[in-house]
Formats: sequence, structure tokens, C-alpha cells
Amino acid sequence: MDASCIAALLARQREAFAHEPYPSLETRLARLRRLQDLLERDGDRLAQAISADFGNRSLHETAIAETFFVLAGIAHTRRHLKRWMKARRVATSFHSLPGTSRILAQPVGAVGIVSPWNYPLQLALAPAVAALAAGNRVMIKPSELTPGFSALLAERIAQSFALEECVVVQGGADVGRTFASQPFDHLFFTGSTAVGRQVALAAAANLTPVTLELGGKSPAILDPSADVGQAAARIAAGKLFNAGQTCIAPDYVLLPRAQRDAFTDAYRQAVLRMYPRLDDNPDYTSIVNERHYQRLQNLASEAEAGGARALRISPAGEMERPQLRKLRPTLLLDVQPGMAVMREEIFGPLLPVIPYDTPDEAIAFVNARPRPLALYWFGKDAARQREVLTRTVAGGMTVNDVLLHIAQENLPFGGVGESGIGAYHGEYGFRLFSKEKPVFEQSRWAGSDMLRPPYGAQAERILRVLRKLV
Ligand code: NAD
Repeated sequence: MDASCIAALLARQREAFAHEPYPSLETRLARLRRLQDLLERDGDRLAQAISADFGNRSLHETAIAETFFVLAGIAHTRRHLKRWMKARRVATSFHSLPGTSRILAQPVGAVGIVSPWNYPLQLALAPAVAALAAGNRVMIKPSELTPGFSALLAERIAQSFALEECVVVQGGADVGRTFASQPFDHLFFTGSTAVGRQVALAAAANLTPVTLELGGKSPAILDPSADVGQAAARIAAGKLFNAGQTCIAPDYVLLPRAQRDAFTDAYRQAVLRMYPRLDDNPDYTSIVNERHYQRLQNLASEAEAGGARALRISPAGEMERPQLRKLRPTLLLDVQPGMAVMREEIFGPLLPVIPYDTPDEAIAFVNARPRPLALYWFGKDAARQREVLTRTVAGGMTVNDVLLHIAQENLPFGGVGESGIGAYHGEYGFRLFSKEKPVFEQSRWAGSDMLRPPYGAQAERILRVLRKLV
């Protein structure tokens, strides 16, 4: 789609918004209901399309992390939207009593959403749910790396929504660039940190508020008090979900030196319990394309060439068939900080395991690097848990498990520093896509009427009283 078409769509959405600047609760609920119906009707077809785009994407994982995830978000939003829309009374400063203060959440207008390939449905539609609930018009630019899914989504959205309400714009990076340069009322981007920087620059030209949901390296720290077996099994499950192609997947593990062998043994056993076979196993997702498959193999071989040990976990008697792109879950030991695998986001089933001698060393390791999107801590020692919570800055944390903070409707989800700007989910998403308009309503009798020029003794008396009261 070329620039003039994208601009024309935005103009139509803007015009429709001008005619309906504050959609009623019923209108918003009906739009959410249509999205829900679409997912209930076409969820399986969309999951098949995603699987075909990946080569193989576990249908269960699509059901859990995409369809169910978005449906749960819609249900939560439908339940609470009436309350979120209500103007919120807040206390008025004493000097302005008996006036009143309140905050009215208004839709901002037309919202642009740019989404990645790794959870193509969730990351296109979860922000759309929030934007529609807040009363906005929505344009979505999904990833070109899942073309079958993007085409089907575009078709089904067009069947359920008028172009002025919600529309999908398909295309690659060039279309993404054009899309991001439009004067949206809010631009919401999920993807890599490098592209996020470009999106922020494009948005700045229009002074468009921008939310950036980016990636990075999310560490998992095992405390000496951790249950190593349980931690290894939970880290393996979270790491290998979607074959590691998850923005909040544990990227590497920091653990006490003495626990390294117990951890690698428990991790290997956990992997083989979950995946007795890999190639002929629909539960194990393929790497999305040849370029990423090659990239991941290069990360491992470059680390090995630099002296790291790669423990590739493969079921006995099974030879990897590269055309399926089911990369072997791999532990990397003895990695060095300068290796690409420790500098770049891994985004695949490779897991560096890094020993430390004191818990302080682990905190220092995390703090010496860009602020992560997620941080995981395993252990029972409450004081050390508090240390990690308060001395590190991360987008979000799960304690004694991985990934699950993203699934909590009442927790904001988003990064910090290089892992992103802004947060959404539940009420946080509604507020993100709203202009929270502060309203002060003056009363018939107002103290400020007495504070007018010409200033004299009366103004000074009032100021003296006010100063005593603050
Ligand atoms: P990407 O940045 O390559 O692409 C994301 C989207 O941006 C695609 O739709 C693409 O077409 C578009 N795009 C490309 N160039 C553009 C440009 N110059 N201007 C505007 N749009 C452009 O990311 P990806 O490879 O699809 O996704 C993987 C990355 O996304 C990883 O870094 C991962 O951590 C991150 N991610 C973050 C979250 C989160 O919630 N924070 C979730 C999933 C993925």
C-alpha cells in the first residue's frame, strides 16, 4: 500500500472520529464484541495461518499466548470499561474550595499500531483492544514475516469493521516507515530496539505520542536459596515456548557457581520430558525463517569458536532436519561478555549459563547492561529478593517463574530504557490511549475572585493566610 492510500485511510478515520469524538459505552462494547466474535469464529484459521508462516507453530501455544490472551483481555475490558470511562473525582486544593476537580478520559483520535511477527495476533490485537475501548479509531500494520496471517487478519477485520473503525495495512519495512511517518494521534510500536529508534524519530516529526514495546536481553537469576530443579524446569518451559522467540523469554541465566552442573542436568531432563522428540513434534515451534535459523546457529558457533561449550539437547537417535528449522535447545557454558550471544538479544532456544560467586555480582552484571524488558529471580531468601527488586530496573519481574507477569490484567506491561517507553494491558492500556483531561469546575463563590488587581492590603492578607495553611 502506498503513502497516499495510508494517508487517505487516516484522513477517513480522522473525519469519522470528528463526527463521533466520544463514543458511548455501548458503541465501544459492541466493537469489542465484534473482535471477540472474530476470534471465536476465526481463531483456528488464524492459528493455522500463523503455523504455516512459521513452518510449524504449536497450535496450543497460539491458543494460549495469542487467542486466549486477547480474549481474556477483551473479557476483562468489557467487565471494567464502564468504571474506567467514568470521570474520576479527585480532591481539590484547599485554596480553590469549594470548586471541584475531576479527570475525564477522552479518546485521542486515530491510533497506529505496528506489530512484529513473533506473536502476530496478540501484538496486533491486544493494543487494538485497549485503543478501541478508549474510543479510538485503529490502523494496524502487522509484520511482513507472517504474510499469510497478516492477509487473513486484514480480510477478517475488513468483514467485521468499517475502514473508519479499524483497518489492517499490509506491507514490509518500507510500508512500516511510511505508516510511522503519518500524523497519528498515538503511535504504538512493538518490535526491535533498532527499529523502535527509527519509529520514535518519525513520530517526533509529527509530535505524535509514541509507545515503544521493544526487546533486549532478559536475565534469570538463581539465588543460592533457589530450588534448582524447579527453577530449571520453569526456565526451560518459558525459554522453549515459541522456541525462544519471545520478547520476555529468559535470555541468559546467572547462578551460583556451585549450582551450575545441577542446573544443566535438570534443564536437560526438563527439555527431554517436554519434548521426547523435536522434529516430528507439533509442540516444538520452528524458527520463523532461514535467516533467523542461520543467525542463531552463527551465534552458537561464534561462541564455540571463542571457547564456549555448547550443550545441544537432542532426543536419542534423532538427527536434526534443518529444513524444519527446529533448532536444538542449547545451553552455552563459559561464554564471554564480548561474544555476540552476550551482546545481542538471542530470540531463540540458546541459553547462556553464567556462574557468579556472590549475589552482588549478579546484580552488578545486570546493572552494567541496558535495562531489560523482564527480569526473573528464583529463590526463597526474602531479604535477597528485596535486594534484587529494589536495586535493579527492569520492565517487569516474575519471581520464581518466568513470563507470567505479562498475563496479569492488573499489571502494566512495558519496558524501560532500551527495552521500551510506556506500558499497556487492562486499565493501563485504556489510559495509555486516552487523553486524561483534567477539569476544574469553579463554584459560584470563589476565593480567587478576591485575588485580582489592583493588589493591595486584601491580597496580602489572603496570601498570608494561605501561606500559613500550606
Ligand atoms: P522489527 O522491529 O524488525 O519489526 C517490527 C515491525 O516494524 C514490523 O511490522 C516491520 O515491518 C516494521 N518496520 C520495520 N522497519 C520499520 C521502520 N523503519 N519504521 C516503521 N516500521 C518498521 O521486529 P521483529 O523482528 O518483527 O520482532 C522482534 C523484536 O520485537 C524483538 O526484538 C522482540 O524482543 C521485540 N518484541 C517486543 C515485544 C514487547 O512486547 N516488548 C513483544 C514482541 C517482540
